[in-house]
Amino acid sequence: MTKSLLIDVNKCNGCFNCFLACRDEHYGNDYQSYSISQPLNGQFWMRIKEIERGVYPRPKLSYIPLPCLHCKSAPCVAAGKDNAVYRRDDGIVMIDPEKAKGQKEIVNACPYRSVFWNEEKQVPQKCNMCAHRLDEGEKEPRCVEACPTGALVFGDIDDPNSEISRLAAQLELEDLNPEFKTEPLVKYSCLPKRFIAGEIVFKDRQGECAQGVKVTLEGDGIDLETETDPFGDFEFEGLEKNKTYRIFVKQTGYGVRHFEVMTRTDVNLGEIVLSPK
Ligand code: SF4
Ligand code: SF4
Repeated sequence: MTKSLLIDVNKCNGCFNCFLACRDEHYGNDYQSYSISQPLNGQFWMRIKEIERGVYPRPKLSYIPLPCLHCKSAPCVAAGKDNAVYRRDDGIVMIDPEKAKGQKEIVNACPYRSVFWNEEKQVPQKCNMCAHRLDEGEKEPRCVEACPTGALVFGDIDDPNSEISRLAAQLELEDLNPEFKTEPLVKYSCLPKRFIAGEIVFKDRQGECAQGVKVTLEGDGIDLETETDPFGDFEFEGLEKNKTYRIFVKQTGYGVRHFEVMTRTDVNLGEIVLSPK
């Protein structure tokens, strides 16, 4: 059995319910050998990272829930002395609150900054997937229970009939910061990438929204097609960073517009005027 968490970034609306549920579970509560109480301030066992994308008039905000990722090659485990940080058989990475006393280096070992220092108790602390609850027979951690959108799915990834296994087979799962090479058990879907957007207007039909205009994107081995919405807007989302794409705008009776775009950042092509042939 391997416990895992799947985070669908597309479904997260940044409501902070998961963070609050975590606070409610862990602030003021000691759970014997599992964990001691979070202090009043300064600890975010479930962080919500806000990622601002694009610029006005096409800004976007994405939210990335970030708990401990329960890595298989965990630098925090290596940093802890006397087995103070260990991996359970079900994959959960635990900090022993007694053995870890005074070991501040465990905080600095985590590349995701998911370990926090309790100054008063002189101990490192982090998310342990509410292991005390799971061992009592609860199905999921408090954060998962509190999420109203289904952005967090928890379960046994080794069980082919579990919800998490079913979703893992359907979605394209990714690691957060794969360059850290820590093999996280917690997986993500739909991490923010790049988008290319624009607005189409007709030169000879001012005041009329250019709905239904065909826009295609080619490059980096992909070929996508979309149509402008009722406001004349279009968007290609989930594109790779630092790639070159070609955009074609085609409408019967109008000249074709063509753009070559590099996705160093998100790109808004702005107003694209179609002139009659
Ligand atoms: S995310 Fe950080 S604290 Fe959690 S297991 Fe990985 S290295 Fe350790
Ligand atoms: S509770 Fe769910 S939707 Fe709300 S911030 Fe957490 S993960 Fe996102």
